[in-house]
This record gives sequence, C-alpha cells and structure tokens, in this order.
Amino acid sequence: MVLVNPQSGRGQAMALYNGHVQRMLTEADIPHTLVITERPNHARDLVRNADLTQWDALVILSGDGLLFEVVNGLMERQDWEKAIQTPLGILPGGSGNALAASVHHYTRASPVCGEDLLTSCGFQLCKGQTSALDLISIHLSSGVRLFSFLSLAWGFVADVDIESEQFRQIGDLRFLLGTLVRLASLRVYQGKLAFLPAENQPETHSGEIKLLDHLLVPLDQPVPQDWTLVEEREFVLVLAMFQSHLSEDLMAAPDARSDDGTMHLFYVTAGISRAALLRLFRAMQSGTHLDLGCPHLVYRRARALRLEPLSPAGIMTVDGERVEYGPVQAQVHRGVARLISS
Ligand code: ADP
Ligand code: MG
Repeated sequence: MVLVNPQSGRGQAMALYNGHVQRMLTEADIPHTLVITERPNHARDLVRNADLTQWDALVILSGDGLLFEVVNGLMERQDWEKAIQTPLGILPGGSGNALAASVHHYTRASPVCGEDLLTSCGFQLCKGQTSALDLISIHLSSGVRLFSFLSLAWGFVADVDIESEQFRQIGDLRFLLGTLVRLASLRVYQGKLAFLPAENQPETHSGEIKLLDHLLVPLDQPVPQDWTLVEEREFVLVLAMFQSHLSEDLMAAPDARSDDGTMHLFYVTAGISRAALLRLFRAMQSGTHLDLGCPHLVYRRARALRLEPLSPAGIMTVDGERVEYGPVQAQVHRGVARLISS
C-alpha cells in the first residue's frame, strides 16, 4: 500500500507519484494500491483498522509526519506485536524528509537531495530488503504514550520546525528560513534534563517484545540513581535524535543507525552567541558540528531520558509533529519495527 499525502511539502507528492513512483514500481513488477490521504489522521485510522495480511509493505510518500501517523496507528492495534512487523517504506515527498535522507545515508552513498533522493529511496524500495528499526516510547504528562522513530525536540529546533510550517511552500528551505527568523529572536528555555547514559545500560532489548518501559519510573518520582542529571537549567535547545538526519540537509547524528538502540542526545546551553549557533547549524549540513569544539554543545548517547520544561508554555515536537507541552520521558526499544532499507 502506497500512502500519499497530497498536501505535504509544496503539495507535489501526487506529481512525484505520477512522474516517478508509479513507473518505478511498475518496472519492478510491484503491484500496489494507492491511497491518497484526505485529512490529518486518515492514515493513522486506516492502518489501525486495515487487514494487514493483504500488504507486504506500507509505503509512505510524504514527509516524516505521515509515517509518524502510520507507526502510531499500527501500535494502537490489538495485534500491534504482529502489525508493527509490517515493513515500512519511506519515499521523500514532504518538506521534512529526515528519515528518507537517513535511509540514503545508511547506504554510505554520497549525499543527494530532491529527486535524486527519491530515486535512491525508490531503488531501495524495489530491492525490498528490510532492516530493524528502533522505536522510542514517549510518555507525555497527560499519560498519553506514543512512538517515535526520528526525534524529540524542545527549544530552538522545535520552534523552527513548527513556526516554519507557514513557509512549507518553499520545501526544505523552510528550515533555513525558520532558523534565520528564530536566530534573530534567540531565546533561552528553562528546564530540567536527565538521561540514562548508554554505557550504564548496555542491553536495550527488554526481553520479550512486550515494550514495557522498564527503564522509566513514573514522572512524579525522581529518576533512578544511575541516571545523569544535567546541572544546567537554561538551554537553547534539547534534541534527541534516533536517526542520522534532522532534515534532508541537516545531519545531526552522523553515526546513528536505524537499529542502534540509542538516543543521540544533543543539547545547547544558554550563553551561546548567535554566530556560534549559526556555525553549528552550518556545520550540521555536513555532520561536522561536533568537530567545532563548541563548549555550549553537549552530545551524549542515552537509552532513556526525561525532560521537564519550566517555561510555562512552548513547543515540543516528536518526529517533527507538535505534541502536548510539558514533562516528557522516553525509552528506546531496539529494532521492534522493520524499515525497507539496504
Ligand atoms: P511535511 O514534511 O510537508 O510536513 P508530513 O508528511 O510531515 O509532510 O505531513 C504534514 C502533516 O499533514 C501531518 O501532520 C499529517 O498528519 C497531515 N496530513 C496528512 N494527510 C493530510 C491531508 N490530506 N490534508 C492535510 N493534512 C494532511
Ligand atoms: Mg512534517
């Protein structure tokens, strides 16, 4: 099943299907059914109730937001343990194509964008090899639990992502424009951050695939002893990456792999200058931001984290989608889903 969001990106996803994807799949002798989404959560409702035995794979031609719907729709099913084994394919058709860029990066080929990225992902789709995909279980303060494959963001990155939605007509460039706008009105975000360092928790499989969040305690209790409490309380951004790319041209976590069982946690503490922050984002285009030795940028590998914003209102995103604002915690579950990628 190929799911297309006609509104994603510059609204060009249907043209990409008609101009490229349909032909590619036909040449590869892959019969498929096209589903054009009609509204937000259409895909989520559809996969929650679909007879999945009909489909060898669910393929998303959109941005990361539509796959986020599909993953969460699958996890809401009674038979989620089986449903989440359905191979998932991603074709870049949105303005935020971070997973598609990551899947291309994992092939070790040199970076591409636009239609070349679509060709690369389409080729991998036709080959049909699958890799394991980590899912990150995220608990919001209302008690809602959702699943993420890409990122959790608060502060600068989350603000840019949501505020730049108004520029979606310019595609991926919206992030650059959003970054410049936010830089001009740079602010500090107050909050508490704690995480479980990867080295303290070598095993990330939770035994049987029950997806129990055994590393987490309730949000109203202090984090366990072996967690690290970040001393700083003033941040410019907190960003947990679960794949290499934050967008088509921002390689936030070059070493990340889809099934490394790791959260790549970055935070930037207050006091960084606008020029230094801009340098970080420019270096991120080639994944060299850590080489700058910026004292405000911290990178840690983690298995779980907790973030408690103290600023009363704001933006928090999961996989680039806005979620309820407030205390959150998360734990990685290694390789519970399947991603078409070679
Ligand atoms: P982009 O990368 O351009 O943001 P996404 O795939 O992330 O593209 O989709 C953006 C949003 O559009 C998501 O929140 C998704 O739920 C929503 N959406 C999906 N289908 C439709 C539709 N037919 N009309 C409007 N919004 C939709
Ligand atoms: Mg999106």
